[in-house]
Amino acid sequence: MRQPHPHRAAIALGSNLGDSLATLVSACDRLQAHPQIALKQRSSFYRTKPIGPPQPDYINGCVVVETELTAIALLDELLAIEQVFGRERLEHWGPRTLDLDLLLYDNAIINHPRLHVPHPRMAERGFVLVPLAEIAPTWRHPILQRPIADLQQALNCAEIKAL
Ligand code: ATP
Ligand code: CA
Ligand code: CA
Repeated sequence: MRQPHPHRAAIALGSNLGDSLATLVSACDRLQAHPQIALKQRSSFYRTKPIGPPQPDYINGCVVVETELTAIALLDELLAIEQVFGRERLEHWGPRTLDLDLLLYDNAIINHPRLHVPHPRMAERGFVLVPLAEIAPTWRHPILQRPIADLQQALNCAEIKAL
């Protein structure tokens, strides 16, 4: 029998404008409600320090989903959900109501003009690796060939506090 959701993907969620926690919870609900996406795991949420220009602290988390969507189609869904929550792109790495990044898609390495997987900066970001290690510690980064838990342990994550 054909598998309904043959692909596994990891997604990072972040917000630092508006009611960030409520936004992240609603974004997870939207993913779960999508007919071609099944939410399998959700991390805790964490308060983290911003990168980029001065701006409020972030709330970050990660989810693992199963999906029949291609990676590009999944990216388009993530960008559409960002729009529902009023995402505006004003300045590079500026504050945002919702950011959804596709971190991992099966074991794929994708270099497309609109999509790079694994997410190119994930391995240096504690705010990504701490929540991801909570739900997918053994998933191997397909380029670095190391499990997420190892990558996380190599970073100083003292400033990343679970809510
Ligand atoms: P960063 O990518 O460093 O976390 P950001 O999330 O602030 O920065 P955005 O403005 O949200 O960057 O995204 C800009 C573009 O990045 C998106 O329109 C999308 O086409 C592209 N992109 C490339 N790879 C990915 C990915 N793995 N996940 C999400 N967007 C991606
Ligand atoms: Ca991002
Ligand atoms: Ca993004």
